[in-house]
Amino acid sequence: MKFQFDNRLTNELPEDTLAAQGHMQPRLVQHAVWSATQPAAVAAPRLLAHSVDVAAMLGLSESDVRSDAFLQAFSGNQLIDGMQPFSTCYGGHQFGHWAGQLGDGRAISLGEVVHDGQRFELQLKGAGPTPYSRSADGRAVLRSSLREFLCSEAMHHLGVPTTRALSLMTTGESVLRDMFYDGHAADEPGAIVCRVAPSFIRFGHFEIFAQREDERTLRELVTFCIDRDFPHITGSADEKFAQWFKAICERTALLVNEWLRVGFVHGVMNTDNMSVLGLTIDYGPYGWVDNYDYAWTPNTTDANGKRYAFGRQAGVARWNLQKLAAALVLVAPSQASLMDGLDAFDALYNQQLGATLAAKLGLLDFGESDDALVNELFAWMQQSNIDYTEFFRALANLKSSETADQAWQKIHDAFYQPELLTAQQDSVLDWLNRYLNRIVSQNNSSDADTDCARQTRMNATNPRFILRNYLAQQAIDAAEQGDLSMLHELQVALRTPYAEHESLKHLYAKRPDWALNKAGCSMLSCSS
Ligand code: AMP
Ligand code: MG
Repeated sequence: MKFQFDNRLTNELPEDTLAAQGHMQPRLVQHAVWSATQPAAVAAPRLLAHSVDVAAMLGLSESDVRSDAFLQAFSGNQLIDGMQPFSTCYGGHQFGHWAGQLGDGRAISLGEVVHDGQRFELQLKGAGPTPYSRSADGRAVLRSSLREFLCSEAMHHLGVPTTRALSLMTTGESVLRDMFYDGHAADEPGAIVCRVAPSFIRFGHFEIFAQREDERTLRELVTFCIDRDFPHITGSADEKFAQWFKAICERTALLVNEWLRVGFVHGVMNTDNMSVLGLTIDYGPYGWVDNYDYAWTPNTTDANGKRYAFGRQAGVARWNLQKLAAALVLVAPSQASLMDGLDAFDALYNQQLGATLAAKLGLLDFGESDDALVNELFAWMQQSNIDYTEFFRALANLKSSETADQAWQKIHDAFYQPELLTAQQDSVLDWLNRYLNRIVSQNNSSDADTDCARQTRMNATNPRFILRNYLAQQAIDAAEQGDLSMLHELQVALRTPYAEHESLKHLYAKRPDWALNKAGCSMLSCSS
């Protein structure tokens, strides 16, 4: 197993001098972006799963992955030549409030690999304490690690920007967690995921230096981030800055649109969990919408405020970008460069939202009159307890020659409690009528569409398989008992999420009733 390392972050950005002298105790780290940090060895690492795609992306063969060197390196037990492990300093706004220094409390990057002209930072999550661990242990448990591992890869195959995951290992050590925050702490199996991304720089990396008025480090970090993570940006320093901030805003707009398309709720959109590359990052108490609900959040910590609910994600993303802009004021060439970026978010988000909704409905364009079609759709869906994923797949099966009653039969199974729909049924039928008329006119228009072509398009944008919370939980329950079959089956299913496989049919169903109130299936805590 051989990697070509090019550790730019540690070579080019200011280092925490205390860590360099071996002071690893948790503290405020000043005037430094990173701290040299060794992973802590674990007793008995075991590889539970790996991503074939990520391994290939890094130039690793299957025998590399099966080697002892791999096991030791990605459990944090032994470094490979060229690795230079570090943790980084960042802050963040959590649930709307400035939280001060956070940092990589349990993430340790091993280095930056360059392969086939692409750069990948390798980062272990759960590999032991760092100067940013505060009062916590720097470790992670199997349940949250398995969820992060699977969901990173699921999102990638859905076409949603995300950090990737190379490996999932158990450590052979237990980790104490109070999963429900109710005073009943228990030992759980410890685990480590190796995450992979071109960059793990977050909004909070800039915020911490701005809050401390450390203009010098902030400026260095901005220059570095533009240069390493946005190499296509050219021009004068001022032009580069403006394009860079605009690019962050635009990537963020695209990201939250994609979450809407596939029904994903991040759950903890604090500014420390926002990637400058517009990647989905830090999988914690995330969830997938089963029955469509604008106000649904899987995160029990957010159960009252619902700040990070499904339908609020675009607004929160915008708010987070404003916090980033506020941090960058100190080094921005002009206020206008920041305002332009935020305007670009609004413009692209709105444009993309129309395109996403049109695609979900199989429309070739999104005209003004389609606003009403969509608004009515989401209004009745909110009232009708209907599965978001099942509905859009069923909708693709409608034929323009059908009546609303026939269409109703086709979407019937997507409802969780169709027998309770007496009041809503008329609005659903009205809407189906309207939709069918829209399809008929699309099929009859000058660039005529067909039912078959529309179905193909819709099935390429509306997933067949999503990593529903209850599926991940079943894989966790089994894995904790030593049975990895479900974990491995989900790995297969998530690679072709738009296809329909007879052998995977049992994974396509809407959420079963037993999962509605089961921990891990519909509600999750931040404990991980
Ligand atoms: P999160 O809610 O996972 O985004 O984490 C927020 C902050 O808490 C980050 O700075 C994490 O590094 C830190 N953190 C979470 N869990 C742990 C842990 N077990 N040990 C050390 N730091 C942690
Ligand atoms: Mg985080």
